[in-house]
Amino acid sequence: MRKAFLKSAQESLLKMREQVVADIDSDTKTSRSGHKDEGMDAYDLASEERDRDISMILSDRDRRKLQSLDEALTRIKAGSYGICDECELDIAEDRLKALPFTRLCVICQGEQEKEARQTRQADDDRGVRRFAVGDDGGDDA
Ligand SMILES: [Zn+2]
Repeated sequence: MRKAFLKSAQESLLKMREQVVADIDSDTKTSRSGHKDEGMDAYDLASEERDRDISMILSDRDRRKLQSLDEALTRIKAGSYGICDECELDIAEDRLKALPFTRLCVICQGEQEKEARQTRQADDDRGVRRFAVGDDGGDDA
């Protein structure tokens, strides 16, 4: 992995992280608009407190996003960024540019998606059968 590439990846990860945190922050401020005095105190609290506060109001989706961004940033520091979790080969730079927090190369990602699709497909089949049985005659009544 080239140093320049790592640097730009880190920058985009940090930018994405800031964006997620800013979104969460604006939500927090909106919900706290009635407590301006307390708001001042909140900003004096240690960042640890602040992080805990944020994590309490995070949606699962935001939390997962923050987590993968943090993990990617940690991997940059550890020197393992851009290496596929599954096959341990380098992930293509183009892919990392599009998805800076990805942990899988395009081949392993494809495998995982195929598996996920197959699982979903199996669920759908069961669901459709169940649905068909339950739905039969429903319109005639
Ligand atoms: Zn792989």
